[in-house]
Amino acid sequence: MLDYQRVLEVIYHDVTNIKDKGTVASYIPELANIDSSNFGIHLRTLDGREYGIGSFNTKFSIQSISKVLSLSLAFSLIGEKILERIDVEPSGNPFNQLALLERENGIPRNPLINTGALVIADILISELKNPKEDFLNYIRELTNDDSINYNLKVANSERETGYKNFAAAYLLKSFNNLENDVETVLDFYFHQCSLEMSCAQLTKAFYLFSNKGKCYLNKKQLTNSQAKRINAIMLTCGFYDEAGDFAFEVGLPGKSGVGGGIVALLPNKFIITTWSPGLNKKGNSKLGMYALEQFTTKTKLSIF
Ligand code: GLN
Repeated sequence: MLDYQRVLEVIYHDVTNIKDKGTVASYIPELANIDSSNFGIHLRTLDGREYGIGSFNTKFSIQSISKVLSLSLAFSLIGEKILERIDVEPSGNPFNQLALLERENGIPRNPLINTGALVIADILISELKNPKEDFLNYIRELTNDDSINYNLKVANSERETGYKNFAAAYLLKSFNNLENDVETVLDFYFHQCSLEMSCAQLTKAFYLFSNKGKCYLNKKQLTNSQAKRINAIMLTCGFYDEAGDFAFEVGLPGKSGVGGGIVALLPNKFIITTWSPGLNKKGNSKLGMYALEQFTTKTKLSIF
């Protein structure tokens, strides 16, 4: 039987010796001060075991990782209707790119780039009674953990400098692809991105994608088909213009965030999360990608 803890330890020692840890995101000022020497990794298997090393219980800003969770809630609420307003093709472009949206008449390429996530935020605002509260409760339900919260400082910090997201929302609005007003949609989006969670909490939150739609507490949240489709979207779009590279190197569906987190999973088997705040040029965690490549190489566990 595989000694997972030993594999994580070997990776941890390897990674902590690497000097070039990438660059911490600074375009959201509140994120700029995170120490890039933090590193955590946590693995949760569907047969109930968990393993971790480093800062795997430290909360960090999950940023774009939240896009998978908002997609999941929207999918469970309105099903395939989301496809009337968002496509499911990889964009091959950075997460905040706007040119494609203009060329493709206001239909975002996929729900994991910013424009797509803004449309999902709009759907949730229309569908939920108290959108920010209900979304937070959804995450707390998935994880069975009421300690999870938004970080209002981070949300406000992004609002103050999020010019591109304002531009994206106005462009969507001009194409009639937002029902609610721009301010309301951005307020929800900045809050969802500001959620703070640890690696161990994220492996719980993503449990349902590995477990055919049944969450950590075994409640059915998504149909088998919806869980399959969200994994397909993660695999093809989860890392923007580096999605091909992540599939090539790691071979798992996953999602990154500019806070330095990455969650990846093997259906029916495990969920794994890394946190290393330094990013590469494409905005994905440099050492997180490396650690996950090492994990699937050493264990020979991937979808391929
Ligand atoms: N909140 C960030 C933004 O919209 C999320 C980006 C990311 O994590 N890739 O710019």
